[in-house]
Amino acid sequence: MEADRIYNFNPGPATLPLPVLKEAQAEFLNFRGSGESILEISHRAKEYAAMQDEAKADIKTLMGLGDDYEVLFMTGGASTQFALLPLNFATKEKKGAYVLSGSFAEKAFKEADHLGVGVVAASSKDGGYKHIPQQDELQIPKDAAYVHLCYNNTIYGTEYHYIPETNGVPLFADMSSDMLSRPLDFKSFDFIYAGVQKNLGPAGVTLVVAKKSFLEKSPEALPTMFKYETFLKKDSLYNTPPAFNIYMVGKVAHWILTEGGLPEMAKRNKKKADLLYGVIDASDGFYRGHAEPASRSFMNVTFRLPSEELEKKFVGEALAEGLGGVKGHRSVGGMRASIYNAMTYEGVEKLANFMQKFQKANA
Ligand SMILES: *Cc1c(COP(=O)(O)O)cnc(C)c1O
Repeated sequence: MEADRIYNFNPGPATLPLPVLKEAQAEFLNFRGSGESILEISHRAKEYAAMQDEAKADIKTLMGLGDDYEVLFMTGGASTQFALLPLNFATKEKKGAYVLSGSFAEKAFKEADHLGVGVVAASSKDGGYKHIPQQDELQIPKDAAYVHLCYNNTIYGTEYHYIPETNGVPLFADMSSDMLSRPLDFKSFDFIYAGVQKNLGPAGVTLVVAKKSFLEKSPEALPTMFKYETFLKKDSLYNTPPAFNIYMVGKVAHWILTEGGLPEMAKRNKKKADLLYGVIDASDGFYRGHAEPASRSFMNVTFRLPSEELEKKFVGEALAEGLGGVKGHRSVGGMRASIYNAMTYEGVEKLANFMQKFQKANA
């Protein structure tokens, strides 16, 4: 840890691997011997093309996906995908079926609903989104265009620990806040997307990994930039891409690979999450976790304290100890520690120790 940096528990933009930041710093003025910065170079340059190809290949290697899947780099964040999915894939006859598990899942549904092409497949809103709807709660119309999930609910701190059986209906997932955090059978998904600023890079690029068959043909009537077909056929270079952001995502993907890939990330992330949930569970109710234990997220640990006054004090004293960004989202209140891939065990250990110390002093 650098002496002048804090442990950053922000939900997104979020902490990035220190080796990646240092590498980017070292290469900042001269990208791959081009004599130009990545911020200045043409997206048609051969150095740029090689970088983008490597980033795509590393992402597919990590996910264990072959030629039937394609990686796209888009813009507008996950929020734009919320609108593009129903525009590209749903109709009034074949609707998108949405599992509502939190705020972002709701926002995704809202876009489809607004177009009259969305239907709710399940919801855990009653009770405050404390759990992930389980298989037996899902009501998926047989003729749905897709089932849409939000795989990790960044705000509520819940995460899927199973892949739903959809009986042939294509499976779409917003993985903005847990993309590349653990191995999954990614082949079970037809369309995955992520705003990268949670676990994979700086805000400004949206990662899409989808079956090519879903990207090849988009509705004629859509504007060019709203068609996945455009991004597939032009290798995400129809318009000027956010080059620096893609470069950073490539670096993070490569870092994950060299650290041991998704199995290693999963091991580390579970160890970090177990430590914090352990402190919560052993606190005699001083800390109250928001998520039901079976739906707990490995990425965002949400919890309340006995009073809002103590919560305020917690945030302030944590920051004084170099632990930043622990304030929860206003819709849940309390605390949220986001412990993405780049958060070190050392940082989480510091937070766990602080939590125990704070409880002793204030219980
Ligand atoms: C942050 C987040 C979003 C919104 O992403 P933007 O890139 O800001 O549009 C959507 N879904 C999830 C799960 C998120 O965590």
